[in-house]
Amino acid sequence: MDRGIDRAVDVLIVGAGPTGMGASWRIQELHELGLNAVHDWLLVEQCSAPGGMAASFRDAQGFTWDIGVHVIYSHYPYFNEFLKDVLGEGILEHPRKGWVWLKGNYIPFPLQNNLQRLPVDDLLACVASFPNAATANPMPANFSQWINQHFGTALAELFFLPYAYKMWAYPAENLATTWTERKSSSKYQNVQRTSLLPLVENLIRRQDTPGWDGAVPFPYPAKGGAGALWSEAFSRLPREHAQLGKGVVSIDTASRVATLSSGERVRYASLLSSMPLDAFLERLDEGFRAQLPAPVLKHSSSHVIGVGVHGEVPEHLRDKFWIQFAQLDLPFFRISITSNYSPDNVPSSGAFWSLMCEVSESPLKPVNHDTVVPDVIAALRRVGLLSPEHEIASVWHRPIAYGYPVPCLERDAYLEEVQALLKENGIYSRGRFGGWKYEVSNQDNAFMQGVEAIDNMVLGTEELTYMHPELVCRTIVDRLAGRSFLNRHKMVRPA
Ligand SMILES: Cc1cc2nc3c(=O)[nH]c(=O)nc-3n(C[C@H](O)[C@H](O)[C@H](O)COP(=O)(O)OP(=O)(O)OC[C@H]3O[C@@H](n4cnc5c(N)ncnc54)[C@H](O)[C@@H]3O)c2cc1C
Repeated sequence: MDRGIDRAVDVLIVGAGPTGMGASWRIQELHELGLNAVHDWLLVEQCSAPGGMAASFRDAQGFTWDIGVHVIYSHYPYFNEFLKDVLGEGILEHPRKGWVWLKGNYIPFPLQNNLQRLPVDDLLACVASFPNAATANPMPANFSQWINQHFGTALAELFFLPYAYKMWAYPAENLATTWTERKSSSKYQNVQRTSLLPLVENLIRRQDTPGWDGAVPFPYPAKGGAGALWSEAFSRLPREHAQLGKGVVSIDTASRVATLSSGERVRYASLLSSMPLDAFLERLDEGFRAQLPAPVLKHSSSHVIGVGVHGEVPEHLRDKFWIQFAQLDLPFFRISITSNYSPDNVPSSGAFWSLMCEVSESPLKPVNHDTVVPDVIAALRRVGLLSPEHEIASVWHRPIAYGYPVPCLERDAYLEEVQALLKENGIYSRGRFGGWKYEVSNQDNAFMQGVEAIDNMVLGTEELTYMHPELVCRTIVDRLAGRSFLNRHKMVRPA
């Protein structure tokens, strides 16, 4: 070992969120399969627990909270196998029932498929301004234009523009449009398009159109919240390779040495980082940083506010998992009825229920940190989610610095340049904020980015999820990535 170096590894993984876990899981699996291309490796996590943004927390009153809604939309067979392997029977399955709250009505998600539920005047205005496909501009310059082009001005103003601002904390004019095509690893568009014909059919038949995969349930851990998946998976990694409470403080890209908060110096051949890209770049040596383009990335921050309530969940919320709110005078853009996800999310099922509110923040959408909690509770009462007889048992507030990686107009060109520079130096920055691509930033995508980065290092295979989000739809992933991983796995795993 060189002087001043405490450990030399083939792969250093930064962060024990889903991306770091995918990478570690894959290395372990390759090892078990007899492919010992990675001799030594180390996963370091700055926090005292794994899971990153997909972790869950139990408060002093016994309510469990995730960091915002965590609904899995996986269509990766590899990820599905991982889920089953880690949680076994401990998985609940729920219908994908999302709703939009508008002017006192609950409308099945997505709104654009269920306009028949709008008040008559709003419905007529939406129909009157619904765009004529023949006059649509094929190249909208930003998300605002895209919305108007696909849904017309009335629906844009009623829902899409205010909701976009409330969720991203940036106006739709600041957002690009490519992400709208890709709903994280499914065959669906992220913002589903529609036409007048299905609306007329729904009106005539007096029916609703369910959202994405209405019939396909989503999995959720029976105990411990969404984070149970990651804490259980982490517990299966060998301690000599996976260490908590150690943050990467600085990196010398020329000598490929990372200095940890423990003072240890680790030499690596390849490094996979899942920490936010902007914060990661600040830890690199000045020589490297001098080559970087000017920073352009945007992100929202979030306030996650959980409210635990005495009593049974109200009748009208029993079939609801998440609800979107576009109205600008309501602080939250989304609420989840968290006690519906698992009875384990409350101290005693039937005696308590719970909901969780998400409020976004950015320099263009400031939030008063001192009043956000009372503001949210007052708004819950205004919309009737809490009524005067509801007695609050617990309030949990977690501000998170990084909420959504905003797909801003300048993003793709910046990422291409920066990721190429990093790769030349043996560095992969992947995951929700490591890769900064919203369209592939859910848990399954992040996990697969970790898996695919290791395969790229070891086997030279293409990183489909990060490099080609446009291909990450059900059919392609099944054919090119998921099934081939699984087949390889099944063929060579020793009996
Ligand atoms: C509000 C919100 C809603 C979401 N909704 C959903 C959903 O509905 N469905 C879904 O599937 N996913 C959802 N997600 C996404 C899910 O949480 C992410 O996919 C996932 O957490 C990203 O994983 P990651 O490993 O890329 O990053 P992270 O989870 O952020 O993990 C990165 C890890 O790196 C660690 N780290 C940072 N700096 C250092 C350092 N210097 N040294 C060592 N370690 C460091 C961090 O502590 C962290 O543990 C949501 C996320 C948020 C925030």
